[in-house]
Amino acid sequence: MLSNLFDIPLLGALLKSRWTWRLLRLGALALLLAMIAWGWKEHGIPGIKAGDALMYTNLTNHLFWVWWIMGVVIVALFFGRSWCAVCPLGWLNGLVTRIGLKRELPGWLKSYIPVTLALVALQVVVYLFAIHRYPDLTARLLALLVALAVGCGLLFRQRAFCMLLCPAGAVFGLYARLAPFELRVKQNGGCAACSDQSCVSGGSEWRRFSLGRGVFFWHSRRDDCPVDLVPEQIHDSHDCTLCLNCVHNCRNDSIRVGFRRWMADLGQSPLPAGEALFLVVLLGLLTANFSKVYIDLREALLWPPQQAALLLGWGGDGFNLLAAFWVALLLPVLMLLPAWAAWRLADLQVAALPATAAPDAPTDPPRTEHGFWHRIGYLALPIIPLLLAVHLVLAVVKINAKAGYLPFALRDPSGVKSFLAINVMHTLPGPGILIPLDILKWIVLGLLAGGILVALSAARRCAGQLPTDTSRRGYLLGALLAIALPSAMYVATLIRWLFIR
Ligand code: SF4
Ligand code: SF4
Repeated sequence: MLSNLFDIPLLGALLKSRWTWRLLRLGALALLLAMIAWGWKEHGIPGIKAGDALMYTNLTNHLFWVWWIMGVVIVALFFGRSWCAVCPLGWLNGLVTRIGLKRELPGWLKSYIPVTLALVALQVVVYLFAIHRYPDLTARLLALLVALAVGCGLLFRQRAFCMLLCPAGAVFGLYARLAPFELRVKQNGGCAACSDQSCVSGGSEWRRFSLGRGVFFWHSRRDDCPVDLVPEQIHDSHDCTLCLNCVHNCRNDSIRVGFRRWMADLGQSPLPAGEALFLVVLLGLLTANFSKVYIDLREALLWPPQQAALLLGWGGDGFNLLAAFWVALLLPVLMLLPAWAAWRLADLQVAALPATAAPDAPTDPPRTEHGFWHRIGYLALPIIPLLLAVHLVLAVVKINAKAGYLPFALRDPSGVKSFLAINVMHTLPGPGILIPLDILKWIVLGLLAGGILVALSAARRCAGQLPTDTSRRGYLLGALLAIALPSAMYVATLIRWLFIR
């Protein structure tokens, strides 16, 4: 039954109803607009020294940085890209395409380069302007995202905003390969006889509404698949946004949504070069973010750009530029280089020829040459569970520490009265943590250890599915190296952060 949630009596009907999703999306959009309004004029509190006094007490800041950015990682663990099914930005983008120019996205934009640049730009802007500390800046960021989603919808067909500018969607796409949840057809080959393929094309329909003797008809357009997927051809969940438009459009009830085994999509194919680059950048940024709490490691990681800035005589912005380039690209590439080299060397072919043989005598046919990013695409696969574990650790720690602010933020969305009551007048006790630190540290260590074990198991599984023209042992050695170096840094950070205090 759990392999098809539509079979569960009430839940199935709710999931299949377009109105469930319309109401959820409408609610999410209304909340997003309210968040922009609640945060727009709130920067700090006049007379209060701490400029970022409203960082957690303001509802906009709290909801966005604690629950939206961090909480959805926990959703992704179980349900892959399912946040995209209710995300107000993606929905808004899709709605606006109906009245827009419906231009096709140029081929060169259909790679992961734009979204990788968006990820780096977002990190740099948040770091430089400390957007996460100030509700008015957070509200402006949200307003900008709404404007970009509308702009993309006016220009392009499909969900261009999701493809070009939403790093969250790309991250969920990576984690969706592991999630124990999928959308597939019930029976392979069952769609061959379907003449209109309405699941993909959407199409339009007449609707009839009658009230007493009055009968009304209206012509409505069905929503099509925002990413042009054919359900029968989905073998990997990373692109599917789980919007369920195809389920609503299919006249033959051929599609199911349900649970499956973990990591089901991993190893079927390498990450395409663009997505491998996205993962590499994500690896660098997550490593740098994680190491923030281990000062010695952070200083060691930032030593090269510091020295380069000194040599070039660059201070301030120059150093920030070098640091961003280092953290987002050079550092993670260097972290993966030993893995690539080990696998590449294992593919060297050495043939012993008889002394009498001519140097150009035929030997075994040469193996196919796998390019650098093609190999990184394979080596990146077992790193996905590790990154998910690190993301989960960050999410759990953040939610544990800050979730207590939610009741305050709900009672006083601006956050001013709550801050004053807690910190100045002391008429309210400060929010506590959900789980005591002595228990939490073991939970997060367990999460990280689990991520490392799953990554090792993923490496084994991916090695088993490699093409035959390359060395599986070499790949396995490379994958172990790719997992070992970041794992050592993450475990050291966690121990230094939570166990040695
Ligand atoms: S890709 Fe991003 S913007 Fe699009 S639906 Fe998913 S989370 Fe929302
Ligand atoms: S395959 Fe179906 S659920 Fe997935 S994105 Fe397309 S329409 Fe939405």
